[in-house]
Amino acid sequence: MTAADPCAHCEEMMQPYMDRVLTDAERAEAETHLDECTYCRKRYRFEDHLRTFVQQAVYAEPMPVELRQKLADLRTPLQ
Ligand SMILES: [Zn+2]
Repeated sequence: MTAADPCAHCEEMMQPYMDRVLTDAERAEAETHLDECTYCRKRYRFEDHLRTFVQQAVYAEPMPVELRQKLADLRTPLQ
């Protein structure tokens, strides 16, 4: 395992990427990796959908505890 694992680096940048707080260079770097890595692309897409879903849920009914737990389980890293 090297420190230069591109997927690990990509994962680190996922939250800031979603929050749109990356610099242009970092963003370009992440997008380049996403273009060529199916694994990370899936993770980003999943995270993106999850965020949208959670945002919608905030404005809808209060989320049942079981659903909240299910979402928390889904967020654990895929191995
Ligand atoms: Zn990757």
